[in-house]
Amino acid sequence: MNGRTIVIGLDGLSEMLIGLEETSTLSNLFDESGGTLLSTLPPTTGPAWSSFQTGKNPERHGISSLINIYEAENSYKMREFSGADLASEAIYESFDHEDDDCFVMNLPYTYPPRIDGDVVTSWLTNSDDLVDFIHPSDLRDRYPNLNSYSPHPDGNSDLAFLKSLLSIERDRIEITKQVIEDGDHEFVFTLFSGTDTMQHRVYSDLAGRASTSEADVARKILREIDDFISWLVDAKAETDNLVLMSDHGFRQFDGYFSLNGWLHENGYLSFSKDGVQFQNSNDDATTTFDIGPLYDFVRRNEVLMNSLMPIYRFFSDHNVEFTSEKGIDMSDTEAYCRHDQEQSIYINHTGERYESLKAQLIDELSDIPGIRPVDVTSEYGSSENMGDIVVLGDRYQVIRGDRNDPISDRPIPYHHRNGVVMLLGPSFESTPDVMNIEDLYPTLLHLNGYAVPDDLDGRVIEEHLTTESNIEFRDPLSSGVENTESGAADSDSEAVQNRLEDLGYL
Ligand SMILES: [Zn+2]
Repeated sequence: MNGRTIVIGLDGLSEMLIGLEETSTLSNLFDESGGTLLSTLPPTTGPAWSSFQTGKNPERHGISSLINIYEAENSYKMREFSGADLASEAIYESFDHEDDDCFVMNLPYTYPPRIDGDVVTSWLTNSDDLVDFIHPSDLRDRYPNLNSYSPHPDGNSDLAFLKSLLSIERDRIEITKQVIEDGDHEFVFTLFSGTDTMQHRVYSDLAGRASTSEADVARKILREIDDFISWLVDAKAETDNLVLMSDHGFRQFDGYFSLNGWLHENGYLSFSKDGVQFQNSNDDATTTFDIGPLYDFVRRNEVLMNSLMPIYRFFSDHNVEFTSEKGIDMSDTEAYCRHDQEQSIYINHTGERYESLKAQLIDELSDIPGIRPVDVTSEYGSSENMGDIVVLGDRYQVIRGDRNDPISDRPIPYHHRNGVVMLLGPSFESTPDVMNIEDLYPTLLHLNGYAVPDDLDGRVIEEHLTTESNIEFRDPLSSGVENTESGAADSDSEAVQNRLEDLGYL
């Protein structure tokens, strides 16, 4: 008889953080049973947590970035992806389908709720009512810490922001402890976001063991999470399996590599004043940066209004900018990048020229030290929902950029594809040196004796399990979430911009 399946997400957890003295438990566990968890293309929160929960790559589950860019009225619009976009069975739905009780906290894209179980959604939830973050509503009675819980860190300075984060992570720790102690759930998932946020803010202070007030608060968060992990390893039953994982890694890069700067310099891309923009704001009526859903739900709610600043900071941490750029002249452009978050090149050709140009770009980019272009079709089977080439950086953070120099040498901490994973518990013989983030879902189903949906990209890591039964497959559940948001909220750009200015966004 299997025990519970407990998954603790530590967003962006890197080997740098594991190496700090505040994380001695994580460090020991990593030495004993740590491996590399290969994140998605691109390695960012939206696609990565979506791939974890669907067992599919971003091309298949469709969430290729935090931002959905879509064509509308001869122009492009943007909106945040939501749970309604994730058109695929999710891991907690599979456990729920097997009559297991689930507790899910802070997993992106869990709103609207898909199961009649206990779900505390993430801050990415597009809702104008904080009550919607917690499902069902009586969850607050069972877990009193939820009454003070907010998914939004708050604070105008890094220090205030990190202190707010500390209090949020404390709530997550207390609530998860209670869930583990009560023992009412067979599948438990909690994501701690602070590990990612603190690296965006104070990576070099932490790496350099600098003694700043900000780094001290970050270290306190790490120590409390590490103490919680230590508690959890003792408190869980012998039969429980425990997964500790990050969605992507993190490292300090030498600088950035600007895709559009490089494409422009090499004659593949032209800018023009009235070209196509994939960013916010100018006076050109054909361009709209539609942040409608997020913006509207914030605007209608005073509590959320006050937390706009941290959301803005999250986006700026993740390079979602609200600045204008020169447009791209599509009539004189062969290849371009749309958005920092996508980290990819779109090829503006079809047919033979498409294939030859793709090969040529991959060839030329491969010659740049520290730059790794990946052909999305070779990796994921097609590139309908993504760019054609995702460009990874080992030395440089890859950004969209503009006509400026392709390479800067200003050191910058950012996401890396190599995340971490630790597989602990009776069903695991060992942790692979390297596994894909898509492999966790089928593996966790199989080790509980459950059939695996037959349309996943991930695979069961059989050779690392103590169970020896054959893998059973079944049809995927038809997920009940309808996409109601595409095309919605066509706010006009000037009004959006004015409201953003009022709120200090711009
Ligand atoms: Zn991040």
